Amino acid sequence: MRVLLMGPPGAGKGTQAEKLVDRFNIPHISTGDMFRSAIKEGTELGKKAKEFMDQGKLVPDEVTIGIVKERLEQSDCEKGFLLDGFPRTTAQAEALDGILAELKIELDAVVDIQVSREKLLERLTGRRVCKDCGSAYHVVFNPSEQDGKCNKCGGELYQRSDDNEETAAKRLDVYTEQTEPLIRYYQDQGKLIEINGDQPMEAVLADVVRLLGRDF
Ligand code: ADP
Ligand code: AMP
Repeated sequence: MRVLLMGPPGAGKGTQAEKLVDRFNIPHISTGDMFRSAIKEGTELGKKAKEFMDQGKLVPDEVTIGIVKERLEQSDCEKGFLLDGFPRTTAQAEALDGILAELKIELDAVVDIQVSREKLLERLTGRRVCKDCGSAYHVVFNPSEQDGKCNKCGGELYQRSDDNEETAAKRLDVYTEQTEPLIRYYQDQGKLIEINGDQPMEAVLADVVRLLGRDF
C-alpha cells in the first residue's frame, strides 16, 4: 500500500500514521521527523532545516525532495509506504510523480484529514511529543498516563519549539498558501480520500481504514 497523508499541521497525521503503519506493516516516512532527527544529530541538513522550521516556513524544495527520493529508494519501501507531511508544494508533488515513475510504482491513495483552524491551533499548542520515540500526546485530548512521561517507552515529553501560538499560526498560513492547492492536484488524479478529522482519534482511524479498505 502506497499512501500519502495530507492535512494541515495538527490535523492528526502523525497520530494516525502511527496506528496505520502498525496495521499495514509499512514504513512511516515523515519529512518533519526526518528534519527533527537531523537537528538532533547536528548534521548540515539539520542546521539548514532548523532555520526555516523555527520561523514556521517550509524547508526549500531542493533539500526536501532530495531526502525523500533517497528514502523511497530504500528496499523497505518496496512493500509500500506511508508518506506524512510530503509533498507540501506543487514542485514537491511533481517531483514525487517523477520519482514514482522512475521506480515504476504509483500511489494508491491520498488521504486528506480535514480540521477547522481554531481546533488546529488548540491541538498544536497543546501537543507534547516523546523525545525518545516521537509519540504525540495532547495535554487535554490525549494526556499521557504519567505526567510528562511517554506511555510507550517512558521517555520525557517536550513541547516542539514550533508549537507556540505565533509559529503555529504562521504554519497554518503557509499550509493554506502552499499546500492546500495540492488537494485539487490529487483530486484531479482521482486519488483523494477526504476524512473528517474533527472526531475522536479512533473514529478518524476507523474512517481511514474503511475508505482505504475499499481498494485494498
Ligand atoms: P500532525 O502530524 O498532523 O501535525 P499530530 O498527529 O501530531 O498532527 O496531532 C496534533 C495534536 O492533536 C497532538 O497533540 C495529538 O495528540 C492531537 N490529536 C490528534 N488527533 C486528534 C483527534 N482526533 N482529536 C483530538 N486531538 C487529536
Ligand atoms: P511537521 O512535523 O510535518 O509539522 O513539519 C515541521 C516542519 O518541518 C514544517 O513546518 C517545515 O518547516 C518542515 N517540513 C516538514 N515537511 C516538509 C516538506 N515536505 N517541505 C518543506 N518543509 C517541510
